[in-house]
Amino acid sequence: FQSKLPALGTSIFTQMSALANQHQAINLSQGFPEFDTPEFLKNQVALYIERGLNQYSPSSGIASLQQQIAALIARKYRTQLNGEQTITVTSGATEALFVAIQTLVRPGDEVIIFDPAYDSYQPAIELAGGTCKHIHLTAPDYAIDWQVVEAAVNDKTRAIIINTPHNPTGKVLKPHDITALTGLIEKHDLYLISDEVYEHITFDGVTHLSALMYDALFKRAFVVSSFGKTFHCTGWKMGYCVAPPQFTAEFRKLHQYVTFSSFTPAQHGLAAMLEQQPEHVEQLAGFYQQKRDVLVAALSASRFKLLASEGTYFLLLDYSDISDLNDVDFCHWLAQKVGVAAIPLSVFYKAKSTDKVIRLCFAKNDETLIAAAEKLCQL
Ligand code: PMP
Ligand code: GLN
Repeated sequence: FQSKLPALGTSIFTQMSALANQHQAINLSQGFPEFDTPEFLKNQVALYIERGLNQYSPSSGIASLQQQIAALIARKYRTQLNGEQTITVTSGATEALFVAIQTLVRPGDEVIIFDPAYDSYQPAIELAGGTCKHIHLTAPDYAIDWQVVEAAVNDKTRAIIINTPHNPTGKVLKPHDITALTGLIEKHDLYLISDEVYEHITFDGVTHLSALMYDALFKRAFVVSSFGKTFHCTGWKMGYCVAPPQFTAEFRKLHQYVTFSSFTPAQHGLAAMLEQQPEHVEQLAGFYQQKRDVLVAALSASRFKLLASEGTYFLLLDYSDISDLNDVDFCHWLAQKVGVAAIPLSVFYKAKSTDKVIRLCFAKNDETLIAAAEKLCQL
């Protein structure tokens, strides 16, 4: 059997969570919340199941959820959208990204992605017959040199994928990045896929700049988000894609044959949650900032150098004062011998990275964060 993706193995998140379980290590590797989905949302979903709303929804999502997402976008980004024409509910951001990429990318096209890059982009681009042009960003700032990006554009370049707030670095794009990105997209007639799954999680007054805020970007964009991150329900696999009507029409042609529709009771529950408890979204950044601060304070006595996390629920640690192991070996050793599971950063890079940096997820109870930090402070 000839593999279509011969170079691809099992995702690092699967590997490290398995290792954590095997060694009973505290699992700060795969990104998922330890705390439960809000009571109201769970009860609503249970209620809709009980009421018998258990069949297919319209392929693009139920109207009330599209309306609530549009209302959230209007409140947060001051952008008025017709949800019926622009918002498609998907089975997680993963499906939205996959479908957006299949919609856009043709054989021979190139797509610019920034390494460290989330792991689902490249396989989707390659399945569409495209190739990735990797822009290598480095610790500790992971700043983007837009002249390097421009130099990577050629007549095959079809799209750029950005991710802000950024997994795994916790960086957030700034106004000068948006200006440069907009200039590039307009000048070279490119499309944009904007992965904004951590849109509600930014810290210390840093503002998330969504592609939805800028006409010049949004008219060329597929903007992707995830309810899993926002409502602590990563296992429901619920997300959405926002795009101009003509892009949405193309997106929906594929979406209907990837999954047709997504979990109906959750769509009703999420619509009720967005409408009746808007404060959950508003309080999310503060909630996670406290988590980040607990972990940062608990690690302050350690020999790790902590990189700044401006958003997401991830914190990067530089362990160069602690070990000479490469980051993959260091993470295996950490899970097996120290009892803490983390993600090595080099797996998010195409080119070899020798940085001694690992990612911790702080979407955990304070006791878990403190217990993990105590172990890490022993090193
Ligand atoms: N993009 C990024 C940057 C992510 O971190 C994740 C989740 N880990 C996803 C997309 C996928 O989101 P979902 O779980 O909703 O498919
Ligand atoms: N996005 C999560 C992370 O970055 C993992 C999602 C997955 O396991 N596919 O850890």
